[in-house]
Amino acid sequence: MSATGSDIPIRIPLSNVSITPGSKRHVLEALERGDVSGTGPQVRAFEATLQDTLGVSHVVAVNSGSSALEVVLMALGVGHGDEVIVPCLTFAAPASAALRVGATPVVVDVDEPTWTIDLELTKTAITSRTRAIIAVDLLGHPCDYTPLAELGLPIVEDAAQAHGARYKGRLTGGFGVAAAFSFHANKAIACGEGGCIATDDANLHDRVTTIVNHGMTSRRPYHHITAGTNRRMPNLVAAFGLGQVECWAHLLQRRQRVAERYHRLLSSTAAEGRPRAHWADCTTWLHAIRTPAAHRVVRACRDVGVDARAIWPPIVDSPAFAAFRTSTYPVSRAVSRETLWLPTWGDMTDEVIAEVCRPVLSVLSGP
Ligand SMILES: *Cc1c(COP(=O)(O)O)cnc(C)c1O
Repeated sequence: MSATGSDIPIRIPLSNVSITPGSKRHVLEALERGDVSGTGPQVRAFEATLQDTLGVSHVVAVNSGSSALEVVLMALGVGHGDEVIVPCLTFAAPASAALRVGATPVVVDVDEPTWTIDLELTKTAITSRTRAIIAVDLLGHPCDYTPLAELGLPIVEDAAQAHGARYKGRLTGGFGVAAAFSFHANKAIACGEGGCIATDDANLHDRVTTIVNHGMTSRRPYHHITAGTNRRMPNLVAAFGLGQVECWAHLLQRRQRVAERYHRLLSSTAAEGRPRAHWADCTTWLHAIRTPAAHRVVRACRDVGVDARAIWPPIVDSPAFAAFRTSTYPVSRAVSRETLWLPTWGDMTDEVIAEVCRPVLSVLSGP
């Protein structure tokens, strides 16, 4: 069975990575020098370039966005008996990270105006055991960080879907005690598998660096000050990622162009884009549209080999998180039921975009 769940072969995939000339050059150089481990020079260059791009004091490259979330929770000392507040509408990595460190995910709904974590529900979910809130910048839209910060708890920003988005003019990655990014192949800035932790907190940076390096510090060899793990990003991957981060603005603009083109071609229909708060500058990850006919649109796309997909169901609908259901999550449920992604990548041609729009229009322009 194909990834779309039908027997029709995929002609147009959900995403594709743009391979920059810089990525090729850096990977070749790493290969020629034999720099392949997680301590190579391209890892340091990748971190330094991200630091400049994001305007934060510290960046630690890791092997995935999920690792970034887990390691931040470990560094905050979150564990058994603790609670971590997470949104219900998202890829499930935040809830998994909470469970992986032994904590309980407390799942709250998102709000209609932003599709990000609902502030009032978050307030009522706080208990004496709450140790962190993971705020997900969903589908390129930042969370409302000013009131979240006022709750007085550590905020972990999950910016995996929001490279280059801005909250009140400031780039994502700079909010909360730390931010997690993913560079998974389908993300806006990608290196195959990878992630990073961004923080302005020097102590947290120290703890994160130690945890991802087997609990060792660089000061004394084979001296483990904590039971760490290995979550380092390999140098070859960082070399690829470096060529992406160097083209940060260009790669994001190319995706934005695709979103604008979709918007124009589908403007005759009643389908809506994701909502946007006035304080948010969004970026495009995958272009999402909302329509009550979402399921029919996905089917029409699949029937012609276009890998459009329904977005995630509420996370509590998965067996792994069903035990943490505390509500019906009406907003997450409604948005999930009516929203789909259209194939999105930076190098998409106008012809391919038009081809994707054909089955979409056949459903949405119909009688
Ligand atoms: C993709 C994603 C992650 C996980 O990143 P990986 O690099 O795939 O582990 C975490 N959180 C969100 C919101 C994501 O979209």
